Amino acid sequence: MATEVNRIGEAGRLNQGQVRALTRHLETVARHVRQGRPCPALDMRDAFRDQVMEFREAGFLTDRDVAELLGSLRLLEPAEPGQSQVERSYAPGVAGELRSIVKGGEEIRYEVIDGLAIYQGDIILGYADEFEAAASADGASPDLPVYASGVCDRPGDVLRCGTWRDGVVGYDFALEGWGAETLAMRTLILQAIAQWEARTGVAFERRTSGERVVFRNASGCSSSLGRKEFTGFTPQWINLATNCNTIGIVVHEIGHAVGMFHEQSRRDRDGFVRIFPERIREGKDHNFDRYARDEGMDVGPYDYTSIMHYYCDDFAIADAGNAIEPIQPGVTCADVGQKSTPGNSQGLSDGDILGAFTLYPPRYEITGATSGEVNDRFELEVVATRLSLPRPEHMVWTSDRVAGELRRGHTLNSVALGLAPGPHVITASVTILGVTVATRTISVTIRNTAPDVSLGPDREEDLNVPFTVVSSVNDAEDGVCPVTVCSYTWDPNPDIDRGPRAEYRFTTEGPQTITLSVRDNGGAGTSASVNVNVVNTPPQPTITTPTTGSGFSVGSTLRVSAYADDLNEPGGRLACSRLRWSSSEATDAFDSRFGCTPELTFGDAGARTLTLLATDPQGASQSTTVDVQVVACGPSCRPDASFVIEPESELDGSTFSPPFSGPGYLLTTELTLRGSIFDADVPPDNPIQFWWELLPPCVAPEITPCPPAIPLDNGSVVVTGFPAVADLTFRPGDHVAEWAECQVHARQYTLRLTVRDATGAVNEYSRPVHLACTLI
Ligand SMILES: [Zn+2]
Repeated sequence: MATEVNRIGEAGRLNQGQVRALTRHLETVARHVRQGRPCPALDMRDAFRDQVMEFREAGFLTDRDVAELLGSLRLLEPAEPGQSQVERSYAPGVAGELRSIVKGGEEIRYEVIDGLAIYQGDIILGYADEFEAAASADGASPDLPVYASGVCDRPGDVLRCGTWRDGVVGYDFALEGWGAETLAMRTLILQAIAQWEARTGVAFERRTSGERVVFRNASGCSSSLGRKEFTGFTPQWINLATNCNTIGIVVHEIGHAVGMFHEQSRRDRDGFVRIFPERIREGKDHNFDRYARDEGMDVGPYDYTSIMHYYCDDFAIADAGNAIEPIQPGVTCADVGQKSTPGNSQGLSDGDILGAFTLYPPRYEITGATSGEVNDRFELEVVATRLSLPRPEHMVWTSDRVAGELRRGHTLNSVALGLAPGPHVITASVTILGVTVATRTISVTIRNTAPDVSLGPDREEDLNVPFTVVSSVNDAEDGVCPVTVCSYTWDPNPDIDRGPRAEYRFTTEGPQTITLSVRDNGGAGTSASVNVNVVNTPPQPTITTPTTGSGFSVGSTLRVSAYADDLNEPGGRLACSRLRWSSSEATDAFDSRFGCTPELTFGDAGARTLTLLATDPQGASQSTTVDVQVVACGPSCRPDASFVIEPESELDGSTFSPPFSGPGYLLTTELTLRGSIFDADVPPDNPIQFWWELLPPCVAPEITPCPPAIPLDNGSVVVTGFPAVADLTFRPGDHVAEWAECQVHARQYTLRLTVRDATGAVNEYSRPVHLACTLI
């Protein structure tokens, strides 16, 4: 600081004696402070101050000289130890000279302390004389353009407040300063800078020369306002006493340097806060002035939570109550400003961020899709061209073709939004508290091609049988196009509609056409058809009783049995009423020619063919035959026998090797044989004996004797009517040893029912049956 004195001397404003006197004073003060002798130091400071002010009044010194001399002296005034609530002011407890200028008919009041014009307690406007000279010059054109919100932004205004070029604030630290607190204070300052950079478009750059703010220790917490011309107040200070060590205070003081006023100095503040002049300390009421109309601009809604808002008790007389209080319902002093309390992060509010973005619009671009024609699947992203992006909730996407917001955030996904094809002007805006501070737009034309649909080649399907049509859909934009993206319409209406698949069952023969229309979410549609020839398959009749080769007596009555498979009929089986019987021998008589189990009485002796004709409802028919032998009765008729097996079959013989037809069962299945016995004699030759046998396979009887028959059961009946019953229930596996290995999966056995009447006449009836040890 002695160098400041010498500089003034060299400039010729002080003579050698005056320079020596001031230098001696300063050296004495510094020595006393170093020696920890505050009282003599205070006295010496007052004496120094008096001497400087005397030279100023005599016209030797300028305000800049005074500021540099006394400002330096303040570095030697440590803050009161133990002061818990820091007052954000240039010189706590000091009452400077109150002055004012008039601009546009409005008074701008400020204090002069140490030759500096101090505004609203902690805002340094500059050297008082230079500030007043500039204000006087501005008086010629009092209606200067408006500055930004709670903020100022233009060189040439009376407050000499400008924004930082390219949004970059230069900064540096003064070397002398906080002593043992230096590291902690520097860390705090860097944290505050990081907060500004993370949440606003303002950047910071360490500079050792040129336009910059310099953080240094001083007796209070104060800052210059906005960027100052480099030729003026240089460098511009951010003063931070060691008890200004909260993140909130540092963020606040940087806020002034960026260009922000106090929130409660907004033009509209009287609708939000009430000022109590009688509670304000003497000479400090000017700190509650609104900024002059042309000096700032209110941006966004009034923000009690602004980091730039005074606390209720700032500048209040002790125990007199609050100097300023909120008047909006539900808002209390606890909500006003941001006190350094636990849980309070003390940072920039949305209102502060809005103000900062108004002064320093965010710089960003939209990437991800170039202008022009794009597929309807694209993703746009906002990227910062400098430092941080606005917070995601502040980024709002809109399209000129869609009402309202598309979404918020840094990216826009067209697929999720389902934007309609055609030209769109897509805008990404930064909107904070309802105020849009920046926008970027791109023009894109979203194209959409119709999906490609195929139902496969023409096909043949069975009448009355359900079948499924599966479409193949490929969309250039939407791929296989799930039902969430595409709509599927089938014609005719299917029985079951599963979007890309449909199930049909046609009940009439002949050609049918199925058409599928697919429309994607962009509204482009296409359709495809498939021709289906619906065919009817003739029934497949089977006679189960009698079996070919069976012999019966003339006059015998036999219950024949048959069924007809038909895949076009319910259950795959033709109704019994559609089975028609006939015999090649005209003397044979059926009790009814239709049915599954009519009775047949044989007429004359001889061979004959029994024919079963099955005709389905569509008129398709097929027949099957069985040949039997009818023998004339000798002295008496031999008895007749026949049987059916329940169930009819349980194995599909075509799946076995070698394949077989006819009934097939597992060894473990319980079978019921329904036997019928008849004797044509009148009266019958009762009683009639019968026995059941299972005949093992006999592969080569000419070489190896056939294995013996396996007896199953025997008994006797008395025939009194038709039919006499001789049923048997048994399990084949109980009588047939399981084969050692199941390599031969099925073997053909024979079931045989033999009858013998009282005269000794014998007859038999047999049916082949396949037995398997495992399923295939
Ligand atoms: Zn302030």
